[in-house]
Amino acid sequence: MLSALARLFLKDQDKPITTVLNTQIYLDYAATTPLAPEAGAAMAQCLTMDGEFANPASLQHGFGERAHALVEGARSEIAHLLNCKFSDLIFTSGATESNNLAIKGIALSYQKKGNHIITSASEHKAVLDTCKYLESIGFKVTYLRSDFNGCLSLDCILDALTDQTILVSLMHVNNETGVIQDIELIAQALKDKDLFFHVDAAQNAGKVKIDLIKTPIDLLSLSAHKFYGPKGIGCLYVRNRKQTNLTPLLHGGGQEYGLRPGTLPTHQIIGMAKAFRMAHDVMLGDYQHCLRLEQILVDQITQLEGIHFNGDQKLKLPNIVNVSFDQVGSDSLIIALRDDIAIASGSACNTGAIEASHVLRAMGIEGDRLYGAVRISFGRYTTELDIQQSGQRICEAVTYLRHLALE
Ligand SMILES: *Cc1c(COP(=O)(O)O)cnc(C)c1O
Repeated sequence: MLSALARLFLKDQDKPITTVLNTQIYLDYAATTPLAPEAGAAMAQCLTMDGEFANPASLQHGFGERAHALVEGARSEIAHLLNCKFSDLIFTSGATESNNLAIKGIALSYQKKGNHIITSASEHKAVLDTCKYLESIGFKVTYLRSDFNGCLSLDCILDALTDQTILVSLMHVNNETGVIQDIELIAQALKDKDLFFHVDAAQNAGKVKIDLIKTPIDLLSLSAHKFYGPKGIGCLYVRNRKQTNLTPLLHGGGQEYGLRPGTLPTHQIIGMAKAFRMAHDVMLGDYQHCLRLEQILVDQITQLEGIHFNGDQKLKLPNIVNVSFDQVGSDSLIIALRDDIAIASGSACNTGAIEASHVLRAMGIEGDRLYGAVRISFGRYTTELDIQQSGQRICEAVTYLRHLALE
């Protein structure tokens, strides 16, 4: 949905913008990252007749055995990087499915033990909508609220526990603000409680090291396309898979120990493992690169008056900058920039209505700051020049839109 202001802007022929960009700049890495070319090359080896195209479950012949070996090699690689047992990893179609499998899987298996689930109001919709569904079939869900900076306190988590609580599900890094929760501290505090702890790690996997021996997390969701792997593949880690005894979402051919039946997509799995390995090899470099880009962007846009950075600016990953500009609606800004720069508002706008971010709302942000928030996210392939030019373009567009609002 375009606001009247945005429509007006689109019709504007004599553009007031002076910075000319040669190509469009992609600053929506938190929504998805481009595939690492190295991962793409590995995937191409598993698709056609001259590659390992066979069904990895067809173990009666060499074709299938070779595909199977590739899949299990990829599983071992990912397990090695997470420091967990390879038999505790289940391949899924991504973090949405992993979150569903974790939350519904525990809820359905342990409903006789208790009917209470704790999560936070700032979670991804894949967690919130799953919890809403479970409420509709009789479960009780507590949605914790963060502080104004997006941080959850351990006390509020512990206070919410009841003798009916079977699951706590929290994200490690927020996809709209980049704010990091102290998952290590929370996991240690929940370790001896008789419940499961699920973590949605889609935004931090491949960016910060996850060590599942050190951190007592029971279930962990990953998605490859957030760390330069392909879309449509992810995994769920389930500690002590056999004892945990999750209820599957799908029933079928028995693949993935019966927890996620369906023919395994060799190319997707190989692409995910390759991208995950690469992300670890260049983790420090990627991080420092993003820190530099963040600094350049912040230096540029703080030349404007009336701007607010949303979320704790110290306890966040550098690759996401969430910012509101006084007197400028996020939709107007996004549309004003869209020929040149791809940025997003925190909220998906798929109903046609302009919906404010549930994450910022849960933090207690309201009014213009809520409706004006945009998310700028970048990564490995973003250059310093990209950010310099984008910063300048954003400043020009904000200044122009503010003038327009005054007329
Ligand atoms: C992207 C994302 C998801 C959804 O992952 P898909 O693989 O696209 O289903 C879930 N949680 C978070 C935090 C995400 O960033």
